[in-house]
Amino acid sequence: MSSDVSYFHTRKRIVELGRLLVKKGLTHGSSGNLSARVGENTVLITPSGVPYFEMRPSDIVEIDLEGNVISGKFKPSIERFMHLEIYKSRKDVNAVVHSHPINSSALAIVREPLPVLTEEFVIYVGGPVELARFEQAGTIELGKAVVEALGDKKAALMSNHGLVAVGKDLDEAEFVSEIVELHARMYILAKSIGKVNVVPPEIVEKWKEYYYKINEELSNY
Ligand SMILES: [Zn+2]
Repeated sequence: MSSDVSYFHTRKRIVELGRLLVKKGLTHGSSGNLSARVGENTVLITPSGVPYFEMRPSDIVEIDLEGNVISGKFKPSIERFMHLEIYKSRKDVNAVVHSHPINSSALAIVREPLPVLTEEFVIYVGGPVELARFEQAGTIELGKAVVEALGDKKAALMSNHGLVAVGKDLDEAEFVSEIVELHARMYILAKSIGKVNVVPPEIVEKWKEYYYKINEELSNY
């Protein structure tokens, strides 16, 4: 049975982080979408077409893993199938944030992945951010393409569309969105003034060990 009360904190956080994405310029109006896994077969997701600054916690829609509405007066986000494909394939993921940040989207338009530019990037994201092949918005195919591009990492670019970030919780998924967008900006800026030197692969591999270790430890909580 659904319980609006027990999910209130998560609903509230979805709305707060949606507004934060807009404030930080990572998305605008009602674009992008956020979700959180709150049960084995239950996900809370932003409604379709409601601007974040008009959205209330009670507007967040409760759906099952097949995309059926369990409770809520609005339609769930059109991108729900992408969110659900991610939850089905990644047991470590409990939150998905999809946004349209300008620099990450620009890379997705020229269809270029984001290489590793700083060591800390590996700790937070897990390695280079790959590009998901172009698929139509709102389809399960887009979800499958994003899952493929994500691999075991925490972000993927969507061709001609935007960015997807995931995390153990909503705050992590929002933070990863910020980190990726910041590095996309660095990359475009660096490219415009000279040759881009990426972090050598052997160093990326070393930091990746920490990435796995941290995620392993977190999954035991
Ligand atoms: Zn979108």
